[in-house]
Amino acid sequence: MADGTMRAWSVVEPGPVEEGALRFVEKPVPVPGDDELLVHVRACGVCRTDLHVTEGDLPVHRPGVTPGHEVVGVVAGLGTGARGFAVGDRVGVAWLRRTDGTCGYCARGAENLCPASRYTGWDADGGYAQYTTVPAAFAHPLPDGVDDVALAPLLCAGIIGYRALRRAALPPGGHLGLYGFGGSAHLCAQVALAEGATVHVMTRGTAARQLALDLGAASAQDAYASPPEPLDSAILFAPVGDLVPVALRALDRGGVLAIAGIHLSDTPPLHYETELFYEKEVRSVTANTRADAREFLELAARHGVRATTHTYPLSRADEALNDLKAGRFDGAAVLVNDLF
Ligand SMILES: [Zn+2]
Ligand SMILES: [Zn+2]
Repeated sequence: MADGTMRAWSVVEPGPVEEGALRFVEKPVPVPGDDELLVHVRACGVCRTDLHVTEGDLPVHRPGVTPGHEVVGVVAGLGTGARGFAVGDRVGVAWLRRTDGTCGYCARGAENLCPASRYTGWDADGGYAQYTTVPAAFAHPLPDGVDDVALAPLLCAGIIGYRALRRAALPPGGHLGLYGFGGSAHLCAQVALAEGATVHVMTRGTAARQLALDLGAASAQDAYASPPEPLDSAILFAPVGDLVPVALRALDRGGVLAIAGIHLSDTPPLHYETELFYEKEVRSVTANTRADAREFLELAARHGVRATTHTYPLSRADEALNDLKAGRFDGAAVLVNDLF
């Protein structure tokens, strides 16, 4: 950064990632705002949302945005009004970047629904770069003793999986079904298992099914297959609307289906009697609050929740997104800063 520039990935024109929608460019090192931290990126997790931002499934909020919202880095500078951190501190930067703190949703603890909320790697440049910024009030202190790569996926995949688990209202000792078993699901499964749940996994990949069984799932079968027993709760992680009725049919009476993704293909018509009656519920999951993040990071440290990671150099972020799209790995991809 001697000359004030850095390398960063930029969504120049949203489109298929395999056609080069994500470009490796030179940008000025960002200047932190008054209440912000400048963060030297060490590792950044690769989230499906980054793919949605790159390919235009989500509308453009910031032209040329740098994706990435699972950042583990070190504070390299502070705005004059930034509090709570010092240069050299390790911090996490997550998806929720800013809220107004004043609206009715914020006032009742639902800051994830704040209409004025802003998101890292969508509204502001994120962690697919050597440096990024974060408002100090939205930066997360990180537990010691866990390395950068292992922590990165916890910051979105982990937090969202945790919120989805709470939204799914799993009763103590209940039966939980997970549809899709990528980065978020395999972290969510570890929390559920640590809390005494029986977990059934429905996913198409044989390696993902094996990972589920290795982590302690009671069964693992194809995405459209029926679990071996009725489910008290289910979470849909795959962005596949066709699975909504499938998951609803697998629920026991009074069961809850939580849909964890920010993007979902259209759902087919629902059949009331078999898919909704008996007080089955469908709930979406929208981002997370800072309280979710704090609770999850604490639980993850206590239960030893670990991401199964596949690392790529930061300079090959496009390859990581391509592999995510093609389903070429299980668990979570993490970019490691090879540029410094
Ligand atoms: Zn608000
Ligand atoms: Zn994410």
